Amino acid sequence: MKTTRREFMRTAVAGALGTTVIPALVGAQAPGVSGGDVYDVAVVGAGVFGAWIAYRLRQAGRRVALLDAYGPGNARSSSGGQTRVIRMGYGDQEIYTRWSMRSLDLWKSLLGKAGRPSFFQPVGVLWMARGEDPLTTKTLATLQRLGIRHERLGRSELERRWPQIDFGPNTWAIHEPRSGFLMGFHAVQAVVQIAMATGVEYLQEAVVPPAGKGRLGSVATRSGKTVQAGTFVFACGPWLPKLFPDLLGERIFATRQEVFYFGPAPGDARFRSPAMPVWVDFAEEIYGLPDFKGRGFKVAPDRHGPAFDPDTGERVVTPETLAAVREFVARRFPGLKDAPLVASEVCQYENTSNGDFLIDRHPERDNVWLVGGGSGHGFKHGPAVGEYVTARIVEGGPVETRFSLATKEKVQKRAVY
Ligand SMILES: Cc1cc2nc3c(=O)[nH]c(=O)nc-3n(C[C@H](O)[C@H](O)[C@H](O)COP(=O)(O)OP(=O)(O)OC[C@H]3O[C@@H](n4cnc5c(N)ncnc54)[C@H](O)[C@@H]3O)c2cc1C
Repeated sequence: MKTTRREFMRTAVAGALGTTVIPALVGAQAPGVSGGDVYDVAVVGAGVFGAWIAYRLRQAGRRVALLDAYGPGNARSSSGGQTRVIRMGYGDQEIYTRWSMRSLDLWKSLLGKAGRPSFFQPVGVLWMARGEDPLTTKTLATLQRLGIRHERLGRSELERRWPQIDFGPNTWAIHEPRSGFLMGFHAVQAVVQIAMATGVEYLQEAVVPPAGKGRLGSVATRSGKTVQAGTFVFACGPWLPKLFPDLLGERIFATRQEVFYFGPAPGDARFRSPAMPVWVDFAEEIYGLPDFKGRGFKVAPDRHGPAFDPDTGERVVTPETLAAVREFVARRFPGLKDAPLVASEVCQYENTSNGDFLIDRHPERDNVWLVGGGSGHGFKHGPAVGEYVTARIVEGGPVETRFSLATKEKVQKRAVY
């Protein structure tokens, strides 16, 4: 039975409105697929970067296909977690502070349009510091310069406001009252939902690594389809090295990251909002989120774990990391000393050498864009990345040096947090 274009779009949008995005192209022949019309742009990867890029390109009037092997915000993707922090503090890396500010506005606007404003929770972010910690000191200067609302809090004020935290050696902190967290994969699915409602065509298809050199005319999918487009964006996060092994095999480092959720005692409100903000203990390379909707108090080490395969890696936390996290929780949050683990996640960072994003044209294919390297901090920036990539494709012009492929080294030296 032939599916009309109208039926195809209706099925697709209905699918996206549910909790999971249903494969949109079941028996339907979308334009640009296997001999149909050609898309202006095919975006491969519907994580937070690809979803926002597809949406923004469509807003710029482009005919866009968005493809994903497992589905937007799937459990294997870096965007697949329950929650993601959005903060403005980035030391003296002002571009990321500016992008966070811009992104927060765009997130709020889109989530409002999607009827999901609660997918952003403005619970505040508390960044703890010790002594003259240079990164936090630089953050303070940047926030002041850019007029971002924040407070510098000394030890006694911290203890007064958050008596449930034992600040240990932390002597001061920056509080960003307007920052907070986004509901990770739900927020990505909301972007795809809006993108589809405005005409982006979503296909649940795994793209085969493109072979050859020169201008790319089409990509093949594992199911045997061909997708033709004038421009291709590969926003495949930790899969980028699999798609471009020669170019990126040694330049994107996927690392295993573990996330733990602890259950506060019944009726204990100290570990949920408004009593508890998002917090970062920078010196101990660990951060967490308040208990939200009874899903548990999130605690996640930010230190890079071992190498990880996003397709085949088992997602079970290790007893060693759990023991280390419990020890930290008992020290910093004594009221959670005996709290049970109620859930856990294993995800992967897709790190560049220093933490700067990768946004550049393929050096041998000028109609192919490589976008990724979120490096454990990319989620919040989805909207700004979408806007930036769209501007480069529509208007042309060089990319920021810090995002270029040429600056991506083969040795990891983290500089952006
Ligand atoms: C545990 C953890 C905590 C984090 N915390 C934060 C935080 O608090 N704040 C923050 O801002 N950032 C955070 N990050 C980082 C952020 O989540 C990532 O930088 C961001 O989600 C990366 O998005 P992406 O779209 O580049 O990649 P992904 O989300 O991985 O998306 C890539 C997509 O490409 C698809 N794909 C791959 N290969 C193919 C193919 N061949 N064909 C078709 N589709 C394909 C995949 O299925 C996937 O959906 C965290 C990351 C992790 C893992």
